[in-house]
Amino acid sequence: MSLTVSSNYIYEELDKLFPNAKCGLIYNNLFELLVSVVLSAQTTDVAVNKVTPTLFSAYPNTYSLAKAKEEDVKEIIKPIGLSNSKAKNIVALSKELVERFNGDIPKTILELESLPGVGHKTASVVMVEGYKIPAMPVDTHIFRIANRLGISKAKDVVGVEKDLKNYFEESTWCHLHHLLIAFGRNICTAKSPKCDNCPFSNICINKEHIS
Ligand code: SF4
Repeated sequence: MSLTVSSNYIYEELDKLFPNAKCGLIYNNLFELLVSVVLSAQTTDVAVNKVTPTLFSAYPNTYSLAKAKEEDVKEIIKPIGLSNSKAKNIVALSKELVERFNGDIPKTILELESLPGVGHKTASVVMVEGYKIPAMPVDTHIFRIANRLGISKAKDVVGVEKDLKNYFEESTWCHLHHLLIAFGRNICTAKSPKCDNCPFSNICINKEHIS
């Protein structure tokens, strides 16, 4: 790793930039959080937030969603895309929650990952956001930032997750998730990053991205 600044410095600068950083999904309980995160694959939080009020009004808990007809669910979530697979997954995961977890949301990454449509990143988001248990979900923003800042040279999410976990204090992981996403969405964007407004331009090793 060629980064010469401390993880605290990066965390504190991000916290100054985004003092109100938080999850972009609107949810009222762990069930809604889990379903919303599953629905957020390959779409935006804003798009998910537009369909979930109708979805959770019709199916307010695991028991009701477990009994839902996939076709009805699909119709509600159609605007967010991939509605076939997402409807199938959220009905199937609700059935498993009822059958294996008494309708509750499990509290370990391994149990969460055992549910249909729930991968490592989704499970990690539920851990940090829902349970405030340290985990390191790596999405496209966080992957890009870790590489640009020189925190990780890994080419896959497994490697980036490991490097981020080694670099940042575990006690910061939950809120760091929100900070890095806010940074990736607003400053260190995929195209045309706003390097002039970036507190890390002096340490950023990815010079070709600096405008
Ligand atoms: S200097 Fe530019 S590319 Fe580097 S971290 Fe900042 S915004 Fe991203």
